[in-house]
Amino acid sequence: MLNDSRLLVLVVVAGLVACTPARVAGPNPAPPADGAADAVSPTPDVTADDTTATDEDLEARLVEMARTTRGPDASLLPIKPVGISWSSEPREGSPLGIVLHDRPTGRAPVGIEGRLADRGVTFGRLRGQWFGIAAVPIGTSGPQVLTLRLSFEDESDYEQTVELDVRPTRFASTNLRVDSRFSSPPADVLERIREEREFVRGLLGTVTPEWLLDAPFEPPRPIDVTSPFGQARMFNGELRSRHTGLDLRGRPGAPVKAAGRGRVAFAGNLYFAGNAVYVDHGLGVYTGYFHLSRILVAAGDEVLPGDLIGEVGATGRVTGAHLHWYLSVGGQSLDAGSLLDLKLPDR
Ligand SMILES: [Zn+2]
Repeated sequence: MLNDSRLLVLVVVAGLVACTPARVAGPNPAPPADGAADAVSPTPDVTADDTTATDEDLEARLVEMARTTRGPDASLLPIKPVGISWSSEPREGSPLGIVLHDRPTGRAPVGIEGRLADRGVTFGRLRGQWFGIAAVPIGTSGPQVLTLRLSFEDESDYEQTVELDVRPTRFASTNLRVDSRFSSPPADVLERIREEREFVRGLLGTVTPEWLLDAPFEPPRPIDVTSPFGQARMFNGELRSRHTGLDLRGRPGAPVKAAGRGRVAFAGNLYFAGNAVYVDHGLGVYTGYFHLSRILVAAGDEVLPGDLIGEVGATGRVTGAHLHWYLSVGGQSLDAGSLLDLKLPDR
């Protein structure tokens, strides 16, 4: 997790391109979800040197890009470029919060569609600004392009691109040791597993187009990590799967709290996740709480940060009691712990 995250304000004037209204981007496809507790779908192992641009480098690059890419007709465009802030550092395996400031545009867009590394980013209104959370999944690092399509009341729209550098993350590795019931599920549960995977994929691919939070995220339990997000599970020297959640210590019966305001999207039993709760926070952001001994909420319930939603347990695919805290953005599994570094606009 970041300890030094801070709000970077970068007024970006790069790649402002007029588009005809006909060139409206299609709806964002529901990306493949990875909602099972520990999906066995190996992602290429990612190792990277910790050579990342500093904030100052990034800002300098954006300013330079603005100078060099602004076309001769830019002054004729009816809007000025949009001001952009990251509300977290662009980092592999983490959500990236994107804030767009209306004021520099001259006239406010009525809608924004974003794409980062070819994945859709849904924007909503938050405290008078546009706000979106992009997924930066494992395997995405280095230079990436963020594309923003701004639409206006008169049905014109504009596309703006921003290049950013995603800092690579080095993920831990461990030897796989799970109950054989789970590593080789019996034939009669394969259909259940398949159905649940489809169900969760649909659930997490459903985007509520408004941001439901009004305060920063809070940890569902004290941050005492027993297994980090992204950990490679090796079996006989081969990458079998990656840990899709952040495991937090807890004895059976210990309280599990909602990490942020939202609506309970699912509360029930899943083969791998055990007794599980998914909370929808809007804009494609869901948190999950797995392996509970008791569930204390029901689908449709509104929750506030700190509300008790369940108790720690050892249900589903586990070797002992703990909380598997899960985060999905646009159907991509990300490090739930990095939610605590997200700085939301405060005005
Ligand atoms: Zn876990």
